[in-house]
Amino acid sequence: MKKKSLRHKLSIFGQPPAPWYEKGLYFNCTQCGNCCSGGPGYVWVSDHDILQISQFLGLDIETFARKYLRQLPGGISLTEHANFDCIFLERADGKAKCSIYAVRPTQCRTWPFWKQNIQSEQSWANAAVRCPGMRSTNGPHYPMEHIERCANDPESP
Ligand code: SF4
Ligand code: SF4
Repeated sequence: MKKKSLRHKLSIFGQPPAPWYEKGLYFNCTQCGNCCSGGPGYVWVSDHDILQISQFLGLDIETFARKYLRQLPGGISLTEHANFDCIFLERADGKAKCSIYAVRPTQCRTWPFWKQNIQSEQSWANAAVRCPGMRSTNGPHYPMEHIERCANDPESP
């Protein structure tokens, strides 16, 4: 009997199932600052990030790097204060604010739609323990296309 091709066999399974976030997700940052503080962490920066942030601050790259960057085995990260707050985190009136928000690194811009967070509803819920914005039930709403664009950004964790 003639064997059917692997491709044919696979086609019987049809389209892969839609992701659990098919209908999009709600996210509403409360500016609690948890994601920019807490224990020691890393805010990885790409060449593009370095260029953008240094220009935003009006610093040449060398000066910017000396003041705000550290070289680590995994790459280049922003520095942090002694209490582990990100070097660009500011607090006022009970709110946390990113002082370079307009040019924040990709890692920050794509949060919370990181691959590791959207793997499953459980991984989303796990990350939401420290991020109240991920527990929003009424908006703003982010469609699947936006979520996947963030998760697939080559510079996103
Ligand atoms: S932890 Fe979530 S809610 Fe808090 S500042 Fe970060 S993104 Fe916003
Ligand atoms: S760069 Fe801004 S958004 Fe990113 S961790 Fe630092 S303070 Fe938070």
